Amino acid sequence: MTTPHRLKLYNTETRQKEELKPSHGNQVLMYTCGPTVYNYAHIGNFRTYVFEDLLRRTIKFFGFKVDQAMNLTDIDDKTIAGAIREKVSLSEYTRPYIDAFFADLKTLQIEPVEHYPAATEFIPDMIVVIQKLMAKGVAYEGGDGSIYFAIRKFPRYGCLSHFNIDELKVGASTRVTADEYDKDHLADFVLWKKYDPERDGQIYWESPFGKGRPGWHLECSTMAMKILSETIDIHVGGVDNMFPHHENEIAQSEACSGKIFSKLWMHSEHLVVDNKKMSKSLGNFFTLRDLLSKGFTGIQVRYMLLHTHYKTQLNFTFEGMEGIKMSLQRLQDFITRMQEIAASGSQAGSSGKITNVLEEKHSEFASALADDLNISIALAVLFDLVRQINVLADAQEISSVEAIKVLDLLRRFNDVLGILNFEGQVAEIPQELQEALDKRLQARKDKDWALADRLRDFIVDRGYVIEDTATGARLKKGADGI
Ligand code: AMP
Ligand code: ZN
Repeated sequence: MTTPHRLKLYNTETRQKEELKPSHGNQVLMYTCGPTVYNYAHIGNFRTYVFEDLLRRTIKFFGFKVDQAMNLTDIDDKTIAGAIREKVSLSEYTRPYIDAFFADLKTLQIEPVEHYPAATEFIPDMIVVIQKLMAKGVAYEGGDGSIYFAIRKFPRYGCLSHFNIDELKVGASTRVTADEYDKDHLADFVLWKKYDPERDGQIYWESPFGKGRPGWHLECSTMAMKILSETIDIHVGGVDNMFPHHENEIAQSEACSGKIFSKLWMHSEHLVVDNKKMSKSLGNFFTLRDLLSKGFTGIQVRYMLLHTHYKTQLNFTFEGMEGIKMSLQRLQDFITRMQEIAASGSQAGSSGKITNVLEEKHSEFASALADDLNISIALAVLFDLVRQINVLADAQEISSVEAIKVLDLLRRFNDVLGILNFEGQVAEIPQELQEALDKRLQARKDKDWALADRLRDFIVDRGYVIEDTATGARLKKGADGI
């Protein structure tokens, strides 16, 4: 089922909402800047990845296919410094963080994307890009033996951040080798960083320009062009990636291919704590693991990261997390209610009222997402659906067939949101507890009350309650379920 709405997305470059029109038939080519694997990602990083997941799922909701690459930055100043500090190889140093990243993606219900290229796997391709840039006269060897991109030779430089390099007085000889810098240091940036034994230990690659390693910006340009296409549809990252990273990606890619690199650029705002960006350097961060160890679930964290529009800063608080828990519980209780009605064989119809509500909410949900992923409205539509159907269910005006239709629409919404659980509470129950419940039912049938009580205590001791429903007994997690 596709929707008649057209998906419009805000393009940082043109500062306008534009309809998504892929260049390759129905397929959207999307590149998302991934993690620098020098440490565990924090939930600020995951705000960006959850947004990108929402974007991907929304694009699919509108009937497109997605071909997406998210890179793993395993070569940069921080990974190299980390490997040297720990006296291990680069891959030994980054492996645990890569594994942790994939585990965290799963916990947050982030869909796997088609490609996860690591920079270390694409060095020969990066060298080719540098050679092309040198042949075109936009790259040169600096006095220190590193290769630089001459930003003055790329007239579009600054197009994303909307600045004019003439106003910023770039000195002709100003160069920067650091992977990260700000606009005050606008300068020719490094494409190939010359090997320095003191700084780099044994970590280097051979190239026609001598031993060294690629610059961070070049990694993304090369992998996006190589894996997806010289022109992609959407390029995404957190707002801090806009300058210098994405600006430099545009310069290198377009100077190399002569084509537009990405038709649309999207940037998500930061997760903040007391109005400051959550970041490793400020020390004001929580990892996903920190929150899980405090008893929150992946779904709760996902909902928290997702529920504010991506272009608005999101302030993280633990009070906010408590509100999230309650909202999710409400949705989950509603699913249980619909599942029970669906299983009850109820014939009590609503004479078309339910169908009308479902059609209206489907259309409102699609129209909210079509408007640059207006998640606040999309979630409001979902809660309004719950409220309206609950009123009809209270009046016993809903049949089993209608409850199934409600569940179908919720599943469709959840294809985008990824915050609901349809397996029922039973599916999430550990097997040993489910078995204990079954044995308890048998013990009750056998009138072995002592055994039934022991099995009940076994279940309750593990934080679950037994609920007797019209369709039989089932287990439910105690107060902090889902
Ligand atoms: P890094 O690993 O530092 O390269 O960052 C990976 C991604 O996380 C980038 O897209 C950043 O823009 C994004 N990011 C970093 N800090 C935050 C934050 N506090 N809120 C949202 N996104 C962030
Ligand atoms: Zn990137």
